[in-house]
Amino acid sequence: MALITKAIRGTQDVLPGESHKWQYIEQTALSIARDFGFREMRTPVFEHTELFHRSVGENTDVVQKEMYTFDDKGGRSITLRPEGTAGAARALLEHGLNNEALPIKVAYITSCYRYEKPQAGRLREFHQFGVECFGTAAPQADAEVISLASHILKELGVTGVSLHINFIGCPACRAEYHKALKGYFESKKSELCHTCRDRLERNPMRILDCKSPVCSGIATDAPVMLDFLCNDCLKHFGSVKDCLDAAEIEYEIDSGIVRGLDYYTRTVFEFVSDALGSQAVVCGGGRYDGLIEELGGSHLPSLGFAMGLERILMVMEAKGVSFPEPPGCDVYFASMGYEATKRCFKMAVSLREGGVAAEFDTIGRGLKAQMKYADKIGARYTIVIGDNELYTGNARLKDMKTGEETDIKLDDSLYNVLFNKSIDRQLADVAKVLSTTTEVL
Ligand code: ATP
Ligand code: MG
Repeated sequence: MALITKAIRGTQDVLPGESHKWQYIEQTALSIARDFGFREMRTPVFEHTELFHRSVGENTDVVQKEMYTFDDKGGRSITLRPEGTAGAARALLEHGLNNEALPIKVAYITSCYRYEKPQAGRLREFHQFGVECFGTAAPQADAEVISLASHILKELGVTGVSLHINFIGCPACRAEYHKALKGYFESKKSELCHTCRDRLERNPMRILDCKSPVCSGIATDAPVMLDFLCNDCLKHFGSVKDCLDAAEIEYEIDSGIVRGLDYYTRTVFEFVSDALGSQAVVCGGGRYDGLIEELGGSHLPSLGFAMGLERILMVMEAKGVSFPEPPGCDVYFASMGYEATKRCFKMAVSLREGGVAAEFDTIGRGLKAQMKYADKIGARYTIVIGDNELYTGNARLKDMKTGEETDIKLDDSLYNVLFNKSIDRQLADVAKVLSTTTEVL
């Protein structure tokens, strides 16, 4: 029985008291992305397993150890998405978006699934905000995507993050690098973990990303990609740094970043928080110039990033960021008797049509208990309706903060009364935005 009331290990519920934080993070990220020209895209939670084998890569930890893969009732191998890029790339090709004006810029919020060891900041179901920019090889696109991530983190108040960038080359210079890496690891083969010995033959770069302490210790002294870059790559990397400098985005070069997914090429980056201990990377991304071709499309250089939303929320909480209060109940109708309750229902319905958040008793409580409830839910005003109010058509509007009471009529003018008391949240928001915009101008 206990199983029924216990969530699966590594999954998390977002309770009503917390959901406004998620909405704030998601809306902020989507809206800033929109200002950069990235429009939202939604893809299914599961895809053909083969898609992830081809894109994420056979030799990655994600594919080898972490995917939720199963056969459906039709005998097809299905995988719950471990990340968002593969699905976005698949959708791009399936719907021919690559034939539209380039670059194609998409943003998404997705749940992701990885069978990892659950701990703080590491879950089996987690959420990402991500963007993909398909169809540009130019270095300014790299800087633009990095600046988008940086802008979102800043707006959310995710302070204490540093940007680490690295350049992991193109197929041309990588061949040389692979040779050098292979030579280095070959001499230490007997010390490597079982998986890495296999990786040595197939993709030695993956050893650099192994989480085993022995392998990562050996990897510290391995040759670095930056020493093997071809002229084109050197030029590209130089321009990316140049653009970041121009936009005054601070970064440090970190030759240890290889990223956990095979599709990355050239520029890769991570934003690392000072507040999260070992699960410190809040955002990771980079170029994947060969991915679309690998999936059967034409050559379409592209790039993107993904942020771990649970980790972002953890940093915001650790930094004491205050989240905008969710809108509460504007007016609560307390009623006495069946007829009065019916009238309250009617008034609540019509006020809501005008954008006022109204509630009434749907549980059959006595008046005292209703007032207590109105207080608990933080109702801004209350109106008590009984036989007398029904008969006269008059009632009293009580301000729950000040205790002040106003005589009101129970007719259409009620909306105007509430409106004049500036309950209209949208208007207040617009006024706020206008006042800050004027300051800037
Ligand atoms: P890590 O090195 O921490 O395992 P990763 O390189 O596997 O991260 P990516 O595939 O780049 O992560 O995913 C992008 C972001 O998603 C990460 O930077 C992180 O913020 C978040 N993330 C990744 N895996 C998890 C997880 N299991 N639980 C929560 N967040 C995660
Ligand atoms: Mg990982």
